[in-house]
Amino acid sequence: MITNHCPPATAGGSDNEPMSQSVKTHLTSETFDANARAALADTQLRGALRNATSLFGKRRLAAARSLANWEDLRTEARRIKDETLLHLDKYLDQFTANAGRAGAEIHWARDAAEANQIVSELARQRSAKLVVKSKSMTTEEIHLNTALEAVGVEALETDLGEYIIQLAGETPSHIIAPAIHKTRFQIADLFVEKLGIAPTDDITALTVTARRVLREKFAAADMGISGVNFGVAETGTILILENEGNIRLTTSLPRTHIAVMGIEKVIPRFADLEVFLKLLPRSGTGQHLSSYQSLITGTKRASGMEGPKELHIVLLDNGRSRMLASPTTRQSLACIRCGACLNACPVYQQIGGHAYGSVYPGPIGAVITPQLIGLTKAAQLPYASSLCGACREVCPVKIDIPELLLHLRAEIHEKSGVGSRKSEPPPQNRAERLAFKIWAAVMTRPRVFELSGKFAHFFQRFVERNQRIGKVSGFVARLAPPLAAWTSARDLRPVEAKSFRQQWRERRD
Ligand code: SF4
Repeated sequence: MITNHCPPATAGGSDNEPMSQSVKTHLTSETFDANARAALADTQLRGALRNATSLFGKRRLAAARSLANWEDLRTEARRIKDETLLHLDKYLDQFTANAGRAGAEIHWARDAAEANQIVSELARQRSAKLVVKSKSMTTEEIHLNTALEAVGVEALETDLGEYIIQLAGETPSHIIAPAIHKTRFQIADLFVEKLGIAPTDDITALTVTARRVLREKFAAADMGISGVNFGVAETGTILILENEGNIRLTTSLPRTHIAVMGIEKVIPRFADLEVFLKLLPRSGTGQHLSSYQSLITGTKRASGMEGPKELHIVLLDNGRSRMLASPTTRQSLACIRCGACLNACPVYQQIGGHAYGSVYPGPIGAVITPQLIGLTKAAQLPYASSLCGACREVCPVKIDIPELLLHLRAEIHEKSGVGSRKSEPPPQNRAERLAFKIWAAVMTRPRVFELSGKFAHFFQRFVERNQRIGKVSGFVARLAPPLAAWTSARDLRPVEAKSFRQQWRERRD
Protein backbone atom coordinates (compact mmCIF):
# COMPACT_ATOMS: atom_id res chain seq x y z
CA MET A 1 0.00 0.00 0.00
CA ILE A 2 1.23 3.46 -0.76
CA THR A 3 1.14 4.90 2.69
CA ASN A 4 3.32 5.44 5.68
CA HIS A 5 2.99 5.55 9.41
CA CYS A 6 6.47 6.26 10.59
CA PRO A 7 7.15 8.43 13.56
CA PRO A 8 7.59 11.86 12.11
CA ALA A 9 9.35 14.97 12.58
CA THR A 10 10.21 19.11 13.69
CA ALA A 11 9.94 22.82 13.37
CA GLY A 12 12.50 25.34 12.49
CA GLY A 13 15.23 24.27 10.20
CA SER A 14 17.37 25.48 7.40
CA ASP A 15 17.16 25.08 3.67
CA ASN A 16 17.81 21.52 2.73
CA GLU A 17 20.46 20.59 0.21
CA PRO A 18 19.70 18.76 -3.03
CA MET A 19 19.32 15.12 -2.13
CA SER A 20 21.81 12.50 -3.22
CA GLN A 21 19.99 9.45 -4.55
CA SER A 22 22.89 7.11 -3.89
CA VAL A 23 21.97 4.80 -1.06
CA LYS A 24 24.23 3.67 1.73
CA THR A 25 22.52 0.32 2.05
CA HIS A 26 24.59 -2.07 -0.02
CA LEU A 27 23.34 -5.37 1.37
CA THR A 28 22.46 -7.98 -1.21
CA SER A 29 20.35 -11.13 -1.18
CA GLU A 30 23.49 -13.16 -1.81
CA THR A 31 24.78 -12.32 1.67
CA PHE A 32 21.47 -12.91 3.46
CA ASP A 33 22.92 -15.15 6.18
CA ALA A 34 25.57 -12.61 7.17
CA ASN A 35 23.06 -9.73 6.89
CA ALA A 36 20.65 -11.56 9.19
CA ARG A 37 23.33 -12.26 11.78
CA ALA A 38 24.30 -8.58 11.83
CA ALA A 39 20.64 -7.56 12.21
CA LEU A 40 20.16 -10.00 15.08
CA ALA A 41 23.01 -8.33 16.94
CA ASP A 42 21.36 -4.89 16.61
CA THR A 43 19.19 -4.61 19.72
CA GLN A 44 17.88 -1.15 18.82
CA LEU A 45 16.69 -2.43 15.45
CA ARG A 46 15.00 -5.43 17.02
CA GLY A 47 13.25 -3.25 19.59
CA ALA A 48 11.90 -0.92 16.88
CA LEU A 49 10.75 -3.88 14.80
CA ARG A 50 9.09 -5.61 17.73
CA ASN A 51 7.07 -2.50 18.60
CA ALA A 52 6.01 -1.74 15.04
CA THR A 53 5.18 -5.24 13.81
CA SER A 54 3.20 -6.18 16.91
CA LEU A 55 1.23 -2.92 16.71
CA PHE A 56 0.44 -3.48 13.02
CA GLY A 57 -0.50 -7.09 13.77
CA LYS A 58 -2.94 -6.13 16.54
CA ARG A 59 -4.52 -3.40 14.43
CA ARG A 60 -4.92 -5.76 11.48
CA LEU A 61 -6.67 -8.34 13.62
CA ALA A 62 -9.08 -5.80 15.12
CA ALA A 63 -9.85 -4.33 11.70
CA ALA A 64 -10.44 -7.76 10.16
CA ARG A 65 -12.79 -8.70 13.00
CA SER A 66 -14.84 -5.57 12.30
CA LEU A 67 -16.16 -7.29 9.16
CA ALA A 68 -18.33 -10.37 9.53
CA ASN A 69 -17.59 -11.45 5.96
CA TRP A 70 -13.79 -11.11 6.14
CA GLU A 71 -13.11 -14.65 4.92
CA ASP A 72 -15.61 -14.27 2.08
CA LEU A 73 -13.87 -11.06 1.02
CA ARG A 74 -10.50 -12.83 0.98
CA THR A 75 -11.93 -15.60 -1.16
CA GLU A 76 -13.52 -13.10 -3.53
CA ALA A 77 -10.31 -11.06 -3.82
CA ARG A 78 -8.38 -14.17 -4.74
CA ARG A 79 -11.02 -15.15 -7.29
CA ILE A 80 -10.80 -11.72 -8.93
CA LYS A 81 -7.01 -11.88 -9.02
CA ASP A 82 -7.02 -15.42 -10.45
CA GLU A 83 -9.52 -14.40 -13.12
CA THR A 84 -7.42 -11.35 -14.02
CA LEU A 85 -4.13 -13.20 -14.18
CA LEU A 86 -5.62 -15.94 -16.33
CA HIS A 87 -6.74 -13.34 -18.89
CA LEU A 88 -4.15 -10.66 -18.21
CA ASP A 89 -3.60 -9.85 -21.90
CA LYS A 90 -7.30 -9.14 -22.39
CA TYR A 91 -7.61 -6.91 -19.33
CA LEU A 92 -4.40 -5.01 -20.13
CA ASP A 93 -5.72 -4.31 -23.63
CA GLN A 94 -8.98 -3.05 -22.16
CA PHE A 95 -7.19 -0.93 -19.57
CA THR A 96 -4.81 0.70 -22.03
CA ALA A 97 -7.61 1.41 -24.55
CA ASN A 98 -9.79 3.09 -21.94
CA ALA A 99 -6.94 5.00 -20.28
CA GLY A 100 -5.81 6.16 -23.72
CA ARG A 101 -9.31 7.39 -24.59
CA ALA A 102 -9.29 9.43 -21.37
CA GLY A 103 -6.07 11.16 -22.40
CA ALA A 104 -3.33 9.02 -20.85
CA GLU A 105 -0.31 8.04 -22.89
CA ILE A 106 0.68 4.38 -22.43
CA HIS A 107 4.27 3.12 -22.45
CA TRP A 108 5.34 -0.53 -22.24
CA ALA A 109 8.57 -1.49 -20.49
CA ARG A 110 9.95 -5.02 -20.75
CA ASP A 111 12.41 -4.50 -17.92
CA ALA A 112 13.81 -1.97 -15.46
CA ALA A 113 16.23 -0.49 -17.99
CA GLU A 114 13.44 0.23 -20.46
CA ALA A 115 11.20 1.75 -17.79
CA ASN A 116 14.01 4.00 -16.56
CA GLN A 117 14.83 4.99 -20.12
CA ILE A 118 11.19 5.96 -20.79
CA VAL A 119 10.92 8.10 -17.64
CA SER A 120 14.35 9.69 -18.16
CA GLU A 121 13.47 10.56 -21.74
CA LEU A 122 10.16 12.11 -20.67
CA ALA A 123 12.11 14.20 -18.14
CA ARG A 124 14.70 15.22 -20.75
CA GLN A 125 12.04 16.29 -23.28
CA ARG A 126 10.47 18.53 -20.64
CA SER A 127 13.83 19.88 -19.37
CA ALA A 128 12.85 18.64 -15.92
CA LYS A 129 15.33 19.21 -13.11
CA LEU A 130 13.19 18.32 -10.09
CA VAL A 131 10.60 15.58 -9.79
CA VAL A 132 8.51 14.84 -6.72
CA LYS A 133 7.73 11.21 -6.06
CA SER A 134 5.12 9.44 -4.04
CA LYS A 135 5.91 6.13 -2.40
CA SER A 136 6.10 3.34 -4.95
CA MET A 137 7.65 -0.09 -4.55
CA THR A 138 7.64 -0.50 -8.33
CA THR A 139 9.92 2.50 -8.80
CA GLU A 140 12.11 1.15 -5.98
CA GLU A 141 12.24 -2.16 -7.86
CA ILE A 142 13.66 -0.49 -10.98
CA HIS A 143 15.92 1.90 -9.03
CA LEU A 144 14.35 4.88 -10.78
CA ASN A 145 15.87 7.49 -8.47
CA THR A 146 19.39 6.37 -9.34
CA ALA A 147 18.54 6.40 -13.07
CA LEU A 148 17.15 9.93 -12.83
CA GLU A 149 20.13 11.12 -10.83
CA ALA A 150 22.38 9.80 -13.61
CA VAL A 151 20.69 12.16 -16.10
CA GLY A 152 20.82 15.16 -13.79
CA VAL A 153 17.29 15.03 -12.37
CA GLU A 154 16.68 15.30 -8.64
CA ALA A 155 13.96 12.87 -7.53
CA LEU A 156 12.56 13.80 -4.14
CA GLU A 157 10.54 11.31 -2.11
CA THR A 158 7.50 12.99 -0.54
CA ASP A 159 6.05 10.19 1.58
CA LEU A 160 7.36 10.96 5.07
CA GLY A 161 8.86 7.51 5.66
CA GLU A 162 10.49 7.52 2.22
CA TYR A 163 11.74 11.07 2.78
CA ILE A 164 13.35 9.98 6.05
CA ILE A 165 15.20 7.06 4.52
CA GLN A 166 16.19 9.14 1.50
CA LEU A 167 17.71 11.67 3.89
CA ALA A 168 19.49 8.78 5.62
CA GLY A 169 20.72 7.38 2.29
CA GLU A 170 19.01 4.06 2.94
CA THR A 171 16.52 1.80 1.21
CA PRO A 172 13.02 0.97 2.55
CA SER A 173 12.88 -1.83 5.09
CA HIS A 174 9.14 -2.47 4.90
CA ILE A 175 6.62 -2.42 2.06
CA ILE A 176 4.27 0.09 3.67
CA ALA A 177 6.43 1.60 6.42
CA PRO A 178 9.83 2.26 4.85
CA ALA A 179 11.38 3.71 8.02
CA ILE A 180 9.95 1.10 10.37
CA HIS A 181 13.46 0.26 11.58
CA LYS A 182 14.14 3.79 12.84
CA THR A 183 13.30 5.12 16.26
CA ARG A 184 11.96 8.64 16.83
CA PHE A 185 15.31 9.64 18.29
CA GLN A 186 17.25 8.42 15.27
CA ILE A 187 14.94 10.43 13.02
CA ALA A 188 15.36 13.50 15.22
CA ASP A 189 19.16 13.20 14.96
CA LEU A 190 18.87 12.80 11.20
CA PHE A 191 16.80 15.96 10.84
CA VAL A 192 19.23 17.91 12.98
CA GLU A 193 22.12 16.72 10.81
CA LYS A 194 20.51 17.03 7.37
CA LEU A 195 18.00 19.84 7.77
CA GLY A 196 19.88 21.91 10.34
CA ILE A 197 17.00 22.18 12.79
CA ALA A 198 17.38 22.78 16.51
CA PRO A 199 17.56 19.51 18.45
CA THR A 200 14.12 18.10 19.26
CA ASP A 201 12.45 14.72 19.34
CA ASP A 202 8.93 16.14 19.34
CA ILE A 203 7.03 14.22 16.66
CA THR A 204 4.76 17.11 15.70
CA ALA A 205 7.70 19.46 15.35
CA LEU A 206 9.57 16.97 13.18
CA THR A 207 6.52 16.45 10.98
CA VAL A 208 5.99 20.17 10.55
CA THR A 209 9.58 20.55 9.38
CA ALA A 210 9.22 17.80 6.79
CA ARG A 211 5.96 19.29 5.57
CA ARG A 212 7.48 22.76 5.18
CA VAL A 213 10.45 21.45 3.20
CA LEU A 214 8.30 19.23 0.99
CA ARG A 215 5.66 21.88 0.25
CA GLU A 216 8.31 24.10 -1.28
CA LYS A 217 9.44 21.23 -3.48
CA PHE A 218 5.91 20.42 -4.64
CA ALA A 219 5.50 23.98 -5.84
CA ALA A 220 8.81 23.92 -7.72
CA ALA A 221 8.61 20.41 -9.24
CA ASP A 222 8.58 19.87 -13.01
CA MET A 223 7.06 16.40 -12.88
CA GLY A 224 5.28 14.09 -10.43
CA ILE A 225 5.93 10.34 -10.34
CA SER A 226 3.70 7.86 -8.54
CA GLY A 227 3.03 4.15 -8.35
CA VAL A 228 -0.39 2.54 -8.81
CA ASN A 229 -2.37 0.33 -6.43
CA PHE A 230 -4.97 -0.79 -8.95
CA GLY A 231 -5.67 -0.10 -12.62
CA VAL A 232 -9.30 -0.63 -13.61
CA ALA A 233 -9.66 -2.20 -17.06
CA GLU A 234 -13.32 -1.23 -17.42
CA THR A 235 -12.68 2.52 -17.11
CA GLY A 236 -8.92 3.06 -17.55
CA THR A 237 -8.80 4.51 -14.03
CA ILE A 238 -5.80 4.23 -11.72
CA LEU A 239 -6.29 4.14 -7.95
CA ILE A 240 -3.60 5.27 -5.55
CA LEU A 241 -4.00 4.98 -1.76
CA GLU A 242 -2.26 7.08 0.86
CA ASN A 243 -2.58 8.71 4.26
CA GLU A 244 -0.57 11.90 3.95
CA GLY A 245 -1.97 13.82 0.99
CA ASN A 246 1.43 13.90 -0.69
CA ILE A 247 0.20 11.74 -3.56
CA ARG A 248 -2.56 14.20 -4.38
CA LEU A 249 0.04 16.96 -4.56
CA THR A 250 2.41 14.78 -6.60
CA THR A 251 -0.21 13.85 -9.15
CA SER A 252 -2.01 17.16 -9.50
CA LEU A 253 0.41 20.05 -8.98
CA PRO A 254 3.10 19.39 -11.64
CA ARG A 255 2.07 19.63 -15.29
CA THR A 256 3.19 16.06 -15.97
CA HIS A 257 2.26 12.97 -14.00
CA ILE A 258 4.03 9.67 -14.66
CA ALA A 259 2.50 6.55 -13.08
CA VAL A 260 4.70 3.45 -13.02
CA MET A 261 2.51 0.34 -12.79
CA GLY A 262 3.36 -3.35 -12.69
CA ILE A 263 1.25 -5.22 -15.25
CA GLU A 264 -0.29 -7.34 -12.49
CA LYS A 265 -1.99 -4.30 -10.91
CA VAL A 266 -4.87 -4.34 -13.38
CA ILE A 267 -8.31 -5.54 -12.20
CA PRO A 268 -11.35 -6.08 -14.42
CA ARG A 269 -14.16 -3.92 -13.04
CA PHE A 270 -14.64 -0.72 -11.06
CA ALA A 271 -16.92 -2.62 -8.66
CA ASP A 272 -14.00 -4.92 -7.78
CA LEU A 273 -12.41 -2.02 -5.95
CA GLU A 274 -15.01 -2.41 -3.21
CA VAL A 275 -13.46 -5.74 -2.26
CA PHE A 276 -9.86 -4.56 -2.33
CA LEU A 277 -10.58 -1.30 -0.54
CA LYS A 278 -11.98 -3.29 2.38
CA LEU A 279 -9.03 -5.67 2.48
CA LEU A 280 -5.95 -3.59 1.74
CA PRO A 281 -6.06 -0.82 4.37
CA ARG A 282 -7.25 -3.24 7.05
CA SER A 283 -4.45 -5.71 6.28
CA GLY A 284 -1.75 -3.06 5.93
CA THR A 285 -2.28 -0.62 8.76
CA GLY A 286 -5.46 -1.76 10.44
CA GLN A 287 -7.37 1.21 9.04
CA HIS A 288 -10.91 0.72 7.81
CA LEU A 289 -10.01 2.98 4.89
CA SER A 290 -6.91 4.92 3.91
CA SER A 291 -7.17 8.69 4.43
CA TYR A 292 -7.07 9.41 0.70
CA GLN A 293 -8.10 7.36 -2.33
CA SER A 294 -7.11 9.10 -5.55
CA LEU A 295 -9.00 7.84 -8.60
CA ILE A 296 -7.41 9.25 -11.72
CA THR A 297 -8.98 8.75 -15.13
CA GLY A 298 -6.92 10.45 -17.79
CA THR A 299 -5.85 14.07 -17.82
CA LYS A 300 -7.45 17.36 -16.86
CA ARG A 301 -10.18 17.83 -19.42
CA ALA A 302 -11.26 21.46 -19.03
CA SER A 303 -9.80 24.61 -17.57
CA GLY A 304 -10.53 24.87 -13.90
CA MET A 305 -10.60 21.11 -13.46
CA GLU A 306 -8.03 19.28 -11.33
CA GLY A 307 -5.32 17.07 -12.67
CA PRO A 308 -2.17 17.15 -14.76
CA LYS A 309 -2.06 18.28 -18.38
CA GLU A 310 -0.18 15.11 -19.26
CA LEU A 311 -0.57 11.61 -17.80
CA HIS A 312 1.91 8.90 -18.78
CA ILE A 313 1.35 5.33 -17.57
CA VAL A 314 4.43 3.09 -17.76
CA LEU A 315 3.40 -0.58 -17.71
CA LEU A 316 6.24 -2.67 -16.35
CA ASP A 317 6.84 -6.37 -16.97
CA ASN A 318 10.34 -6.96 -15.52
CA GLY A 319 9.95 -10.71 -15.03
CA ARG A 320 6.21 -10.76 -14.31
CA SER A 321 5.42 -12.64 -17.54
CA ARG A 322 7.76 -15.41 -16.39
CA MET A 323 5.85 -15.72 -13.12
CA LEU A 324 2.59 -15.71 -15.04
CA ALA A 325 3.61 -18.68 -17.16
CA SER A 326 3.53 -21.24 -14.33
CA PRO A 327 0.33 -21.92 -12.36
CA THR A 328 2.37 -22.27 -9.15
CA THR A 329 4.33 -19.04 -9.39
CA ARG A 330 1.40 -17.13 -10.90
CA GLN A 331 -0.13 -16.57 -7.48
CA SER A 332 2.87 -14.38 -6.55
CA LEU A 333 1.31 -11.77 -8.85
CA ALA A 334 -1.88 -11.67 -6.77
CA CYS A 335 -0.01 -9.72 -4.08
CA ILE A 336 -1.54 -6.33 -3.30
CA ARG A 337 1.51 -5.19 -1.29
CA CYS A 338 -0.25 -4.76 2.03
CA GLY A 339 2.76 -5.86 4.09
CA ALA A 340 0.71 -8.02 6.48
CA CYS A 341 2.89 -11.07 5.87
CA LEU A 342 5.97 -9.10 6.94
CA ASN A 343 4.40 -8.12 10.25
CA ALA A 344 3.32 -11.71 10.94
CA CYS A 345 6.62 -13.35 9.98
CA PRO A 346 8.81 -14.44 12.93
CA VAL A 347 11.89 -14.09 10.74
CA TYR A 348 11.10 -10.55 9.54
CA GLN A 349 10.15 -9.54 13.09
CA GLN A 350 13.72 -10.28 14.20
CA ILE A 351 15.84 -9.06 11.30
CA GLY A 352 13.79 -6.41 9.46
CA GLY A 353 13.86 -5.68 5.77
CA HIS A 354 17.43 -4.67 4.94
CA ALA A 355 18.80 -8.13 5.70
CA TYR A 356 16.92 -9.51 2.70
CA GLY A 357 19.09 -7.32 0.46
CA SER A 358 16.09 -6.82 -1.76
CA VAL A 359 13.47 -4.17 -2.46
CA TYR A 360 10.77 -6.64 -1.42
CA PRO A 361 11.53 -8.09 2.03
CA GLY A 362 9.75 -10.58 4.25
CA PRO A 363 7.84 -13.65 3.10
CA ILE A 364 6.56 -12.11 -0.12
CA GLY A 365 10.06 -10.77 -0.82
CA ALA A 366 11.52 -14.24 -0.32
CA VAL A 367 9.13 -15.42 -3.02
CA ILE A 368 9.26 -12.52 -5.50
CA THR A 369 12.94 -11.61 -5.34
CA PRO A 370 14.34 -14.94 -6.62
CA GLN A 371 11.83 -14.78 -9.46
CA LEU A 372 12.77 -11.21 -10.32
CA ILE A 373 16.55 -11.32 -10.05
CA GLY A 374 17.19 -15.04 -10.52
CA LEU A 375 17.55 -18.04 -8.22
CA THR A 376 21.32 -17.89 -8.17
CA LYS A 377 21.42 -14.37 -6.77
CA ALA A 378 18.72 -14.96 -4.16
CA ALA A 379 19.13 -18.66 -3.33
CA GLN A 380 19.16 -18.05 0.41
CA LEU A 381 15.85 -16.19 0.57
CA PRO A 382 13.41 -19.12 0.14
CA TYR A 383 15.11 -20.65 3.19
CA ALA A 384 14.49 -17.54 5.31
CA SER A 385 11.33 -19.07 6.68
CA SER A 386 10.30 -21.61 9.28
CA LEU A 387 7.28 -22.46 7.07
CA CYS A 388 5.04 -21.75 10.06
CA GLY A 389 2.30 -20.50 7.74
CA ALA A 390 1.65 -17.19 9.56
CA CYS A 391 2.05 -15.32 6.25
CA ARG A 392 -0.62 -17.47 4.58
CA GLU A 393 -2.99 -16.93 7.51
CA VAL A 394 -2.91 -13.15 7.22
CA CYS A 395 -2.64 -12.69 3.46
CA PRO A 396 -5.80 -10.90 2.25
CA VAL A 397 -5.58 -12.62 -1.14
CA LYS A 398 -4.77 -16.05 0.27
CA ILE A 399 -1.40 -16.46 -1.37
CA ASP A 400 0.09 -19.77 -0.27
CA ILE A 401 3.56 -18.43 0.45
CA PRO A 402 4.86 -21.62 2.15
CA GLU A 403 3.90 -23.57 -0.99
CA LEU A 404 5.80 -21.07 -3.13
CA LEU A 405 8.83 -21.20 -0.85
CA LEU A 406 8.93 -25.00 -1.09
CA HIS A 407 8.52 -24.78 -4.86
CA LEU A 408 11.49 -22.41 -5.09
CA ARG A 409 13.59 -24.56 -2.76
CA ALA A 410 12.93 -27.54 -5.00
CA GLU A 411 13.93 -25.49 -8.07
CA ILE A 412 17.14 -24.41 -6.36
CA HIS A 413 18.09 -28.02 -5.79
CA GLU A 414 17.05 -29.16 -9.23
CA LYS A 415 18.84 -26.53 -11.28
CA SER A 416 22.41 -27.43 -11.99
CA GLY A 417 24.89 -24.90 -10.71
CA VAL A 418 22.37 -23.48 -8.28
CA GLY A 419 22.07 -24.97 -4.83
CA SER A 420 25.79 -25.59 -4.89
CA ARG A 421 27.52 -25.70 -1.54
CA LYS A 422 28.40 -22.03 -1.89
CA SER A 423 24.88 -20.71 -2.30
CA GLU A 424 22.88 -23.48 -0.70
CA PRO A 425 21.76 -22.83 2.85
CA PRO A 426 21.76 -25.63 5.44
CA PRO A 427 21.59 -28.59 5.39
CA GLN A 428 24.87 -28.40 3.57
CA ASN A 429 27.32 -30.63 5.36
CA ARG A 430 27.55 -34.33 6.02
CA ALA A 431 27.00 -34.08 9.76
CA GLU A 432 23.72 -32.26 9.26
CA ARG A 433 22.57 -34.66 6.57
CA LEU A 434 23.35 -37.56 8.88
CA ALA A 435 21.53 -35.86 11.76
CA PHE A 436 18.42 -35.39 9.63
CA LYS A 437 18.56 -39.02 8.51
CA ILE A 438 18.68 -40.17 12.14
CA TRP A 439 15.90 -37.72 13.01
CA ALA A 440 13.72 -39.09 10.20
CA ALA A 441 14.43 -42.68 11.26
CA VAL A 442 13.38 -41.93 14.84
CA MET A 443 10.32 -39.87 13.95
CA THR A 444 8.90 -42.50 11.63
CA ARG A 445 9.17 -45.35 14.19
CA PRO A 446 6.83 -44.86 17.17
CA ARG A 447 8.59 -47.30 19.49
CA VAL A 448 12.02 -45.88 18.74
CA PHE A 449 10.64 -42.36 19.23
CA GLU A 450 9.28 -43.28 22.66
CA LEU A 451 12.54 -44.93 23.65
CA SER A 452 14.51 -41.87 22.54
CA GLY A 453 12.44 -39.74 24.96
CA LYS A 454 13.40 -42.00 27.83
CA PHE A 455 17.07 -41.76 26.87
CA ALA A 456 16.86 -37.97 26.61
CA HIS A 457 15.17 -37.75 30.01
CA PHE A 458 17.85 -39.91 31.61
CA PHE A 459 20.83 -38.12 30.07
CA GLN A 460 19.60 -34.55 30.54
CA ARG A 461 20.56 -34.80 34.24
CA PHE A 462 24.19 -34.56 33.11
CA VAL A 463 23.84 -31.27 31.24
CA GLU A 464 23.84 -27.75 32.65
CA ARG A 465 20.45 -26.52 33.87
CA ASN A 466 18.88 -23.14 34.54
CA GLN A 467 16.56 -22.46 37.45
CA ARG A 468 13.27 -24.15 37.81
CA ILE A 469 10.52 -22.16 36.02
CA GLY A 470 7.04 -22.55 37.43
CA LYS A 471 6.27 -26.24 37.64
CA VAL A 472 8.90 -27.13 35.07
CA SER A 473 12.27 -28.22 36.42
CA GLY A 474 15.37 -26.39 35.21
CA PHE A 475 15.62 -25.65 31.49
CA VAL A 476 18.66 -26.98 29.67
CA ALA A 477 21.08 -24.06 29.40
CA ARG A 478 23.86 -25.51 27.29
CA LEU A 479 24.40 -28.55 25.09
CA ALA A 480 27.61 -29.95 23.70
CA PRO A 481 28.55 -29.18 20.06
CA PRO A 482 27.04 -29.42 17.50
CA LEU A 483 23.80 -28.98 19.47
CA ALA A 484 25.36 -25.99 21.25
CA ALA A 485 24.26 -23.85 18.29
CA TRP A 486 20.67 -24.35 19.42
CA THR A 487 21.26 -23.41 23.06
CA SER A 488 23.53 -20.47 22.22
CA ALA A 489 20.44 -18.28 21.75
CA ARG A 490 17.74 -20.09 23.73
CA ASP A 491 17.09 -22.53 26.54
CA LEU A 492 15.79 -26.00 25.85
CA ARG A 493 12.67 -27.22 27.58
CA PRO A 494 13.52 -30.34 29.55
CA VAL A 495 12.08 -33.71 28.58
CA GLU A 496 9.27 -34.63 30.96
CA ALA A 497 9.60 -37.77 33.08
CA LYS A 498 6.46 -39.13 31.46
CA SER A 499 6.10 -38.81 27.73
CA PHE A 500 2.90 -37.53 26.12
CA ARG A 501 2.11 -41.05 24.95
CA GLN A 502 2.55 -42.47 28.43
CA GLN A 503 0.33 -39.76 29.96
CA TRP A 504 -2.27 -40.37 27.25
CA ARG A 505 -2.31 -44.09 27.93
CA GLU A 506 -2.69 -43.54 31.67
CA ARG A 507 -5.60 -41.15 31.17
CA ARG A 508 -7.43 -43.59 28.96
CA ASP A 509 -6.94 -46.50 31.35
S1 SF4 B 1 1.72 -11.66 0.04
FE1 SF4 B 1 -0.32 -11.20 0.85
S2 SF4 B 1 0.10 -10.48 2.95
FE2 SF4 B 1 2.07 -10.35 1.84
S3 SF4 B 1 2.15 -8.26 1.05
FE3 SF4 B 1 1.24 -9.55 -0.56
S4 SF4 B 1 -0.98 -9.38 -0.25
FE4 SF4 B 1 -0.01 -8.66 1.64
